[in-house]
Amino acid sequence: MHASDRYFAEMRTLTRESFRARQAHSLASLGFGAAGVAFSHWYVGTQRSDPGLLAEARRWLEIAESFASPPPPSRRSRQSARAFPFSSLVYGPLGLAFVKLLVACSAGDSSRERQIEAFTQAVRSCSRGAPSELVQGIAGHLFATAFVYRRWPDRRLGELGDRLARRLMVGLEGGSSGPMPVRSPADLTLAHGLLGRHLALFSWASAAGFQPPRRLTTAFREAAALALANPAALCPHPEYDGSLCNGFAGLAIVAVAAHEALGDENSIETARVAMLRALKAGSIDASLCCGRAGLALALMRVAAQASEEPWRDLAHLQIESVLSTHPEAWSSEGLVHGRAVIPCLAELLKGCSESPQSSCELPPAVIPNLFIYR
Ligand SMILES: [Zn+2]
Repeated sequence: MHASDRYFAEMRTLTRESFRARQAHSLASLGFGAAGVAFSHWYVGTQRSDPGLLAEARRWLEIAESFASPPPPSRRSRQSARAFPFSSLVYGPLGLAFVKLLVACSAGDSSRERQIEAFTQAVRSCSRGAPSELVQGIAGHLFATAFVYRRWPDRRLGELGDRLARRLMVGLEGGSSGPMPVRSPADLTLAHGLLGRHLALFSWASAAGFQPPRRLTTAFREAAALALANPAALCPHPEYDGSLCNGFAGLAIVAVAAHEALGDENSIETARVAMLRALKAGSIDASLCCGRAGLALALMRVAAQASEEPWRDLAHLQIESVLSTHPEAWSSEGLVHGRAVIPCLAELLKGCSESPQSSCELPPAVIPNLFIYR
C-alpha cells in the first residue's frame, strides 16, 4: 500500500479520544496536533480531488477545534512566557484558522466568506504585541496569508498581507545603510530570526506580484553572505546545520523564495551552496522542522529552480528515508514536528514519478556526483 494511503487508513480509525491518548500536549496545533493532520488530508485531498480525504480534513478540524484553548484574557498575559505561543502559526490558534480557510476555499461554498473573515480576525488578534519571527510571530502570519492568496487572491487577504508586510519591513534596515545589526546568532535563523522575515516578505512579493523593495534584497544578501562565511553565525549548534528551522536547509528555502521574487542568478547560487552545506551536515530526526523532511522539502524547492541538476534524486533519498521511519520514532502527529508530513512528501514523490521529465531512479553515484558538481 502507498505510504499516504497507509497513513490515511490509520488516521481514519482514530477518534478524538484515541487521538488524545497518543500525546499529552498541543493537541489542536498545526505543529504538533490535529490541525496538522487536517492540513495533510487537505493537501493530498486537493491534489487528488478526493472528496473522502476532504471530508476527513473537516473531521480533523472538528477534533482540533474541540482541543483549542480560548485566547488569554489580557494583552499582558499574552505576552507572558506561558501564553507566548498564542501568536504562533505553528503552536497557536491561528494554525487552525489557517487550515479551516484552506478547506473552505477548496470547497468553494458560502463557508469561504466566513472563514476569510475569521482568519483576518484571528491574525488581527494574534499579531497584537507579537514578535516579528516566523514560528511565533508576524512573519508566520504573512507566510500563511501568502500561501492562501497565491491560490485564492481575495482582496481582503491582499490588504491583510500588505499590512503585515509593512510591519515586517520596519527594522529590516538600521542606521544609514545595510540591515539591522545582528545581535546574536539566533537572529539569523529561519524559525526565529531575520531569514524567517525575509522568507515571508519574498513569498508575499511573489504571491501578490510585485518587485521586492531593494532594502529587503540587500538585507537578505548580507544575511546569507554572513551565514555562508561563518556558519556559526547562523547556527551555533552544528548538529542543526542541516535543518530548516536553524540551519542551511532554511537558508536554501529563503534563497529559492528570493530567486522566485527577483529572478536573479545570485540567489539560486546561494541556494545551491546552502543546500550542499545542509546535506553534508545531515539531520537529527525525520521531522519537517529539524530533520529529513525539511531537507527533502528544501531539495524539492531547489530542484524546481535548477531542474537539470540532481537535486530531485537527493530529495527522493530523503523522502524514502522519512517514509520508512518507524512510527514510534515520531514525537507527535502534527505537520511541523510530526507524522502529518508523511502524505505530503509521499505525494510529492508520487507526482514526480508520474511526470516523464523527472528522473525517479536513485543511482548510487548521484551523491558523489553532486559534490563534484560544486
Ligand atoms: Zn527544528
